[in-house]
Amino acid sequence: MHKVVIIGSGPAGLTAAIYTARADLQPIVFEGGFIPTGELMTPGGQLMITTEVENFPGFPEGVTGPELVERCRKQAQRFGSHHREEAVEDVDFSGFPLKLRVGDEWIETATVIIATGASARWLGIPSEQAYMNRGVSACATCDGAFFRDKEVMVVGGGDSAMEEANFLTRFCSKVTLIHRRDAFRASKIMVERALANPKIDVEWNCAIDEILGDGRTVTGVRLKSTVDGSLRERAAQGVFLAIGHSPNTQIFKGHIDLHPNGYVKLYGLTGTSAPGVLAAGDVADSRYRQAISAAGMGCMAALDAEKLIETYESEGKLSH
Ligand code: NAP
Repeated sequence: MHKVVIIGSGPAGLTAAIYTARADLQPIVFEGGFIPTGELMTPGGQLMITTEVENFPGFPEGVTGPELVERCRKQAQRFGSHHREEAVEDVDFSGFPLKLRVGDEWIETATVIIATGASARWLGIPSEQAYMNRGVSACATCDGAFFRDKEVMVVGGGDSAMEEANFLTRFCSKVTLIHRRDAFRASKIMVERALANPKIDVEWNCAIDEILGDGRTVTGVRLKSTVDGSLRERAAQGVFLAIGHSPNTQIFKGHIDLHPNGYVKLYGLTGTSAPGVLAAGDVADSRYRQAISAAGMGCMAALDAEKLIETYESEGKLSH
């Protein structure tokens, strides 16, 4: 039986790995991977699709998301953390030990740290699905270079939308932000940067009603006014979604308490409704959602796991 299994390899999971590995608990980290539905649980999480991280302490010049993840992974492995690029597909938290299924293998562990993060949200219209990766994307960092000298739309009004729009101006001739209200929710500095960029303009008070295409690729969008419902079309070769995220909690439904919006319900700072199961990072935090706050929660969950293991050892449930 393992002492600690960590599910997820973003800043929360990797910080938990650094702490539990240094405490000699030999953590196993399930970093993510393809699950039978074909869905990818991205190893490294959202930082892997982030360009520059400017607000993580200790990096005065900034650091790219993937580099930050790689540095954290190396730091954990240096202390003996064991990493597997696979996704956990099912769990059984009904008793001790806790059980996790990876492929055909059931793994037993005394404690689990859930750090599965959150994934990009989609509009949910059929044309979005039809033109996925043929002009529709939720990752400017991954796909921006395919849109050199093209006109694109970015949907959303948060920091992600501002960041994506700015990034896309490196390649695109024009970037239009589409926002459903008349004010952005993004931070002041990000809004100022976007609005000062001569390649960026804004369509306020409208939503995408349909993504238009020629059967092969995107040619434009039909916009619907959120004020009077009127429709009009605009040409574009790309549509980037930046409309927030949903927590990756599907496999935990029915096994631990979740909030109505799907985020893990915490008891105390990192505890869940199942004994021995802790949670950290975006999967349990719909408010702050920062790399640094996720890392902080990962640290707290690791220290809480360590305490639990001490208790289990003193109770004789677990050998030293
Ligand atoms: P967010 O703050 O939740 O913003 C989502 C945006 O999408 C909102 O403007 C929302 O509109 C809009 N939206 C949601 N559903 C929509 C729909 N169905 N149709 C049209 N628009 C829709 O998400 P985020 O921008 O991904 O940011 C998440 C967190 O990460 C935030 O805490 C942010 O500060 C952080 N972040 C930080 C940085 C950075 O500092 N470098 C970069 C990226 C993200 P409403 O405003 O009307 O709700």
